[in-house]
Amino acid sequence: MTSTFPNIGPPRCDVCLDLDWGRMPEDSGDGYWERRLKVPYQSLRDSKDCQICAAIIYAISEFSNPLEIFHTGFHQFLQSSQIRIFLRDGWTTKVLIWSDQDPLAEPYLELEMYSSSDSLSPIPALGVANEVPATLDLSTCACFLVPHIRNCHTSHSRYRAKPSPMPSRLLYVGCETDPTCLRLELLPTLQPYTTLSHCWGDQSAVFTTTKATIEDLVMEIPWKRLPKTFQDAISITRCLGIHYLWIDSLCIIQDDASDWIVESVKMAEIYSGSYLTIAATGASSPTSGCLTTRWHETDFGVRISHVDSRLQSDRLFTAYGIKARYLSKAHTHFAGELHPPISGAPLWNRAWAFQERILSNRLIHFHGEEMVWECRE
Ligand SMILES: [Zn+2]
Ligand SMILES: [Zn+2]
Repeated sequence: MTSTFPNIGPPRCDVCLDLDWGRMPEDSGDGYWERRLKVPYQSLRDSKDCQICAAIIYAISEFSNPLEIFHTGFHQFLQSSQIRIFLRDGWTTKVLIWSDQDPLAEPYLELEMYSSSDSLSPIPALGVANEVPATLDLSTCACFLVPHIRNCHTSHSRYRAKPSPMPSRLLYVGCETDPTCLRLELLPTLQPYTTLSHCWGDQSAVFTTTKATIEDLVMEIPWKRLPKTFQDAISITRCLGIHYLWIDSLCIIQDDASDWIVESVKMAEIYSGSYLTIAATGASSPTSGCLTTRWHETDFGVRISHVDSRLQSDRLFTAYGIKARYLSKAHTHFAGELHPPISGAPLWNRAWAFQERILSNRLIHFHGEEMVWECRE
């Protein structure tokens, strides 16, 4: 049984064109990768007996409600709006709402429509997407990261497995079974290590190594005094089975100008020799963390249940549901058009972070919306 929509029976719709790639005008997108449809909101609203039109209207109303409260003319605004739908066959679908009066303005609302990963999609244009949990935890992070690293390790030739030379100092982070041992290690022997790329923000919040504290930190680094971003970077490093981590504020003696000059020169080698760079891209300071609540903590994956319930009549599609969520600008599928992919994130404004990103062989962005993987291939 193929997953074609007519099986569950709407008449072919002349408004949404059934979101059927084949019915979209060939010259409506780039002709190869994307096709586009522009529809007045009111036409979608007036479309009778089409489940797909109804689903789009439902998604818009679901995500528009908070705006409606503050925007008394919102209903009139919607009535005169254009809906632009961007289709990529087999991918998720992007739905943007534009004011008809001001076509040069930014879209008023940007949504992604998709099918959940445990459901069949009878509409190829509503491809399957994973749920994005509102709060990122370590196990979700590991599930994302481990296969990417494994794939990069086995299939990509450009990753250098042996870092050389080693940084002068590293944090020894111990392992998951013994998380208590945490200390600064001087002149470490050849070992894989991770690196952190982060925003300092308010300098007083940054935990640093100084001439006065280095002796104590070689003995032990008190976990509770570390800001959340550092703690998260340590947890991520441990869960990858790596025992060492480089953080600028701890591995360079911050009140020693000569040490700072010597170590900052090595920065290129430090990042290019790293097993993985952990980029706290969504964090404006070290207190914000990597494993944290996401920017859109509500309204993830709204289930368009009335569409789902109509489909219950066909046993084949009982598990099927269309979903919608705010479009994530961090998502690689959409970010290609919005380079840099992590635009608007706090770390992006820091010049050094750009260097750290370019120098790293492999990097994971902890963006406020999603995790984004980058490697050289
Ligand atoms: Zn329709
Ligand atoms: Zn790779």
